[in-house]
Amino acid sequence: MVLNCIFGAMNFETIVAVRKLLAKPQKIVIVPHKNPDGDAIGSTLGLWHYLKKMGQDAVVVVPNDYPKFLKWMPGSGDILNFERENAQARSKINGATLIFTLDFNHLGRIGQMEKILEEANVPFVMIDHHQAPSEYADIMYSDVNMSSTCEMVYNFIEAVDGGTDGITTEIANCLYTGIMTDTGSFKFRSTTGRTHRVVADLIDKGAENTEIHHRVYDTNTPARLHLLGCALKNMVILEKYSTAYITLSQEELDAHDFQKGDTEGFVNYGLTLEGIRFAVIFIENHEEGIIKISFRSIGDFSVNEFARKHFEGGGHNNAAGGRSSLSLTETVARFESLLPNYQELLKP
Ligand code: 5GP
Ligand code: MN
Repeated sequence: MVLNCIFGAMNFETIVAVRKLLAKPQKIVIVPHKNPDGDAIGSTLGLWHYLKKMGQDAVVVVPNDYPKFLKWMPGSGDILNFERENAQARSKINGATLIFTLDFNHLGRIGQMEKILEEANVPFVMIDHHQAPSEYADIMYSDVNMSSTCEMVYNFIEAVDGGTDGITTEIANCLYTGIMTDTGSFKFRSTTGRTHRVVADLIDKGAENTEIHHRVYDTNTPARLHLLGCALKNMVILEKYSTAYITLSQEELDAHDFQKGDTEGFVNYGLTLEGIRFAVIFIENHEEGIIKISFRSIGDFSVNEFARKHFEGGGHNNAAGGRSSLSLTETVARFESLLPNYQELLKP
C-alpha cells in the first residue's frame, strides 16, 4: 500500500508509518537526484545528521559528483559517490533495509542508479516538491507548493520528532543552504511566510546564514566569470516571445576550464531583462551525448509542462530541466520552431 501524503504537513498516517520504521534499527540509504544541487545535498545531509543522531546506520549515496561550492557542508566527506565509489555504494544499497529518496520523484532522475534502486525490495520513503510524482515509494511526502526539499525535511523532523528541538547546528546549516539555493535567496514565488519562519528558526539554531551565502555564491574562479561573459555574449533575445536563451558549446566550456556547477544560475540572467518571461540555457555535453537544458519563467507560463512535453524533462512551474539528443544547433532550431505555439501564453 502506498501512503500518500500530498499536503504541506505530513499527515497522521505517514507520521505513524515513519515512526514505526524508525523505531527499529535500520540500514538506511539516502539518495538525491543526479547532478545534485544545494537542495539535494542540503536535504540529504540534513536528514542524514538527524538519522545518525537517532542512532540509525545511515549513508548518503549520490548518483554522481556535485559542485565544489557545496563541499564545505557538514557530512560532505562521508557521502558515497555511486560513480566513483561504485562497489562500496552498491554494497550499501544491497544491504539497505530502508531507502529515502529526496528532491526527485521518479527513478529516471538518478541516472545509473535507476536499476539498482528499482531492484531494491525494501520500503522507500520519498520527500520531494516536484510535479507529477511516480508512485514507487511506500511512504510519499510530496508537496509541489514547498519552496524546497530542505523545508520539507524540517517539517519531517518536526512531525516525526514531535518538535524541532532536535535540530542541531549541522542540520540547520544543511537545511538553510538548500532553502537558500532553491528559493534564489528567498525571492522565488515558492517562498512563503512559513519558509521565512523556518529559516528564522534555523538561524536561531545556529545556521551561519551570512557565511553560507558567501561559501555558495562568492567562490567564483576567474575562468567561471569569463564563462559567464561568454554565455551572456551568446544570449539571443526574442522579444516577440518574451524569451531569452543562452547556448554554451562543449568547445566554449573546455576553453574556460569548465568545472561542475560553473553554469549554475546562468539561465536566470535572461529573466533580469525587462519584459522577458521565459529564459533558457542549452549546454552541450559531449560525454553524455546530449544537450542539457534549463528552463525558467516568471509568472504563469509553466516551464514544467514545456519541458515535459518537448524535452523529456520536468520540474516546477517556474524552473525545470530537460534534454535533447539532437545537435546544439538542431536543438535550438527545434526550440525556436516551438515558440509560435506559445506566443499567446508568453504575451506580457
Ligand atoms: P536545473 O535547470 O537547475 O537543472 O533544474 C531545475 C529544476 O528542474 C530542478 O528542480 C530539477 O530537479 C528539475 N529538473 C532538471 N532537469 C530535469 C530533468 O531532466 N527531468 C526532470 N523531471 N526534472 C528536471
Ligand atoms: Mn529542490
